[in-house]
This record gives sequence, C-alpha cells and structure tokens, in this order.
Amino acid sequence: MIEKRLPPSAFVDGFGRRITYLRVSVTDRCDLRCLYCMNERMTFAPKADVLTFEELDRLCALFVRRGVRKLRLTGGEPLMRRGVLDFVRDLSHHLRSGALEELTLTTNGTRLADCAADLFAAGVRRINVSLDSLDRETFARIARSDRLQQVLEGIAAARAAGLSVKINTVALRRDNAREIPALIRWAHALGMDLTLIETMPLGDMEEDRTDQFVSLAALRRELESFWTLDDLPETSGGPSRYVRVRETGGKLGFITPLSHNFCATCNRVRLTCTGQLFLCLGREDNVDLRAPLRDGHGDDALDRLLDEAMTRKPKAHDFVIEHGRSPALARHMSTTGG
Ligand code: SAM
Ligand code: SF4
Repeated sequence: MIEKRLPPSAFVDGFGRRITYLRVSVTDRCDLRCLYCMNERMTFAPKADVLTFEELDRLCALFVRRGVRKLRLTGGEPLMRRGVLDFVRDLSHHLRSGALEELTLTTNGTRLADCAADLFAAGVRRINVSLDSLDRETFARIARSDRLQQVLEGIAAARAAGLSVKINTVALRRDNAREIPALIRWAHALGMDLTLIETMPLGDMEEDRTDQFVSLAALRRELESFWTLDDLPETSGGPSRYVRVRETGGKLGFITPLSHNFCATCNRVRLTCTGQLFLCLGREDNVDLRAPLRDGHGDDALDRLLDEAMTRKPKAHDFVIEHGRSPALARHMSTTGG
C-alpha cells in the first residue's frame, strides 16, 4: 500500500531496499541517565553544532519529498528540547498533505503530561514510551532518577488525550528480568502493546554490559512456559517481531538485533541532531549534512548527497556482545536515538 504512493525518485539503497522511514534525534540531551544508554556524566554536543528546527525542518521536507512515509522524533529526550511542539506542528503539514503517513515519537514520558494534548492536536496518534520497571526503586536505579510517578502520569495523560501508547522495555538481567511478565500484564491490561529490547553495545559504559545482557530468545522460552505466544505476521521493516499473548490478549514485540538479524528488510535511516545521517544503527559510517546545509547548498545538491548516502547503506550491522570486549560502537544510543 505504501509502495504505490512513493514518488519515482524514492530512495532505494544498493541492496534494493526502499528507505521509507526516517528517525530524527532532535537533541542528544536527556533528563534521565538510563544505565544502558548513558553514563552519569555525559558531554553533549555544543549548541552551535545542533541543527535549528528550521534546518531540521528543511531536511525532513527533503526526505518526505523522496518517499519517506514515516517520521519518528527521538533523542536524547525529544520533549526536553524547547520549541519541539512547534516543530511537531510544523511537520504535521506533511500529514495533512498526505505525503507523510505517520508522525510519531519515542519518549521517556517525563514531560508527557504537559505535552500529550498538543501532540495529539498536531496529528500524532501513536507514541512509544520507554519504561523498564513499575517498581519505584528499580526504576530509579535504572534511570538514575526517581521519576516513575511522573512517567506513569505522562502515560495516563497520553492515553486520555487519545494517543495510542506502546511501551518499550529494555531487558536487563539483574534489574528487571524477573519483573517482565508483570510489566507485560500491566501494559496489556491497559490495552497497550509492549516491546522488549535486547541491550545493544553502543557507547562505553561504567559497567560491563554482558552482565546485564538477556537473550530475548531465552526470555521468550521462559514466557512460553506459562503463556501461549501466537506469532503475528506483521513486521515494521525493522528489528521487531510480534506475537499475541493468548492469555492477556495483548501484543508483545521482541527487538533482537543480536540474537536475530533483521537487516534484509531494513527500511530506515537516522538523522542526528547535529546533522549526521547514519545509514545503520550498528555502524559508525555516516554522512554529514550540516556542513552542506550551512554552506548554503540548494535542494538539488542536497538531493544528490542523499542519493550518494543511500548507496552507502551497508547490507548488515555487525554487533557483537562479548565478555570484556569494548563496545561495538563508541557512540551512545542517545546520539542516534535508537
Ligand atoms: N529518551 C527517549 C526514550 O528513552 O524513549 C528516546 C531515546 S532512547 C535512546 C530510545 C530507545 O533506545 C529507548 O527505548 C531506550 O530504552 C533504548 N536504548 C537506549 N540505549 C540502549 C541500548 N544500549 N540498547 C538497547 N536499547 C537502548
Ligand atoms: Fe534518556 Fe532515553 Fe537514553 Fe534513558 S534511554 S537516558 S531516557 S535517551
């Protein structure tokens, strides 16, 4: 259905994959410090390097014109950046014109209570909220911030505003593995899907990540010892695989970049808040769009640069998680936004 509406100049990479999904990190800053994502002390991009909303808007328009149908704002924490709601409102004209199918965002939820109604009014209909525990102490340990209540209020406000909420949960051996069935039950009882995520080796961390790694294949087997999981055919062109939990009636996703390779159907690229285009979450290779943008290049020149960038999209990522091994990539998840 999407294919039919793509313009003739739609992006196709060197392996014949159509690029229809852009994730934009609007800031690398965050009010939380989740231990798998950031160190306690982080150095963020200098303000001068961060693209203005006008610059981001221009790049997004180029992508939409070239067939991107789904745009996700992420970060860092996207709702932390001042002016982000105006940016969402500006982007929403692509929804009204029919060029964009979906405008969405991934958030930690701490600011949702204030933003949910405005997001809905701007045409956002679905959001992902990251939540790793319903226990106040566990949440505070993982996020290094005592904000569970705020996040729960944010989720409630989003639902009340009419947004459909999907919960994202990173599975962590020590911190929340035992709580995961309860989290799934809670989300499904409220009619929310939940997706489990394996920790990915991005960015140097204070602790050895292999200690916290849980294979979702093993976790799935454990869930199947007391639930019936029916495979669902749908894919998002991304790393998620979905099942329906017969006993709860809800949908459960598994994002398994390490124990499962999902690259053959990859339809996405990622833009950082400083204007680098990453062709693959699992690779360092990127194309700088900020310099040509600020040097005054016209849309035609930027279009050519994007065409060339697409030819550099690799066939597959090369994540490896091994005891004592340094991270596969030096960059933190907050740079490219997951
Ligand atoms: N701050 C927002 C949030 O937390 O939803 C958006 C950005 S965050 C980087 C996007 C997603 O990446 C979150 O669901 C988070 O749990 C996940 N994430 C961050 N670091 C990760 C890692 N090393 N491995 C797997 N998932 C990670
Ligand atoms: Fe912030 Fe999201 Fe990273 Fe947690 S996962 S530190 S909320 S950017």
